[in-house]
Amino acid sequence: MTIAFIGLGHMGGPMALNLLKAGHPVRVFDLVASVSAPHQKAGAYVAADPASAVEGADVVFTMLPASRHVESLYLGDGLLARIERGTLVVDCSTIAPASARKVAEAALARGIDMLDAPVSGGTAAAANGTLTFIVGGSAAALERARPLLDAMGKNIFHAGASGAGQVAKIANNMLLAIHMAGTAEALALGVANGLDPKILSDIMVKSSGRNWSLEVYNPWPGLQENVPASRSYSGGFGTSLMLKDLGLAAEASIASGSAIPLGGLARDLYALHNATAGALDFSSIVELYRKRR
Ligand code: NAD
Repeated sequence: MTIAFIGLGHMGGPMALNLLKAGHPVRVFDLVASVSAPHQKAGAYVAADPASAVEGADVVFTMLPASRHVESLYLGDGLLARIERGTLVVDCSTIAPASARKVAEAALARGIDMLDAPVSGGTAAAANGTLTFIVGGSAAALERARPLLDAMGKNIFHAGASGAGQVAKIANNMLLAIHMAGTAEALALGVANGLDPKILSDIMVKSSGRNWSLEVYNPWPGLQENVPASRSYSGGFGTSLMLKDLGLAAEASIASGSAIPLGGLARDLYALHNATAGALDFSSIVELYRKRR
């Protein structure tokens, strides 16, 4: 299957490399030309624009920052009109469910099936091919995408109809923001009261405070290898992207009349932090709590 892959950032870059590794011909495009160097080396065709990337593709993937990027690419710039009927489009970006549905409806009107397939797992999972895909759209379209998703991920969930993948992803990331902030708060409390952060982490990982942020993405600097906290919070999942996802949770809560008191508080914390740390990984939220002597 010939694949077009648009958006080669922290996540899309390694995902496209895994499709190349699986032996698929891949045509790539990113607005920042330099990020496609590893793909070119691995045999990808580097397109000069999105329209040439999708030429002759059986499946088109996008991995872009936010709703406005996805809508403007497919609808504003008219990429849908350049994609052949019968092609499958899979958008892996985390965006508003309403945007996902709007683009999928426009695609369907042109005879193109589209899935929302946001991912969970972070940059390490993107590199290792162990992402979780959370898919919205038809079961038949998911079956077409499955062999390609298998090349990039370990778990594939069908959340429901178009937009459902985004709803599940937004709920997950709201919980992630809350347990990351809670983990940072608990570690900072222990350290401020004389504990070693490594000993406290080891205790909580085997106790009822255990959670993903503590166990595999520890925010305290120097405790774990290969996490953003061990490289000055570079790479990883940007604070500005987490703030975007918490804004999507707030929108979803308004749309459904749901109360999200902890999600709202987390959004405020990340908004405060984003003013100075937007480009840093979201685990740098621990800096809001750390005492510096
Ligand atoms: P990123 O900012 O690193 O990458 C986005 C890429 O898209 C950039 O290289 C940018 O140049 C490119 N781009 C933007 N507009 C474009 C366009 N019109 N055409 C072509 N390229 C374009 O972001 P990321 O961390 O890779 O995240 C991508 C999406 O995945 C976001 O929605 C994010 O919320 C989600 N996500 C990220 C992580 C993570 O750990 N980083 C984890 C799960 C989900």
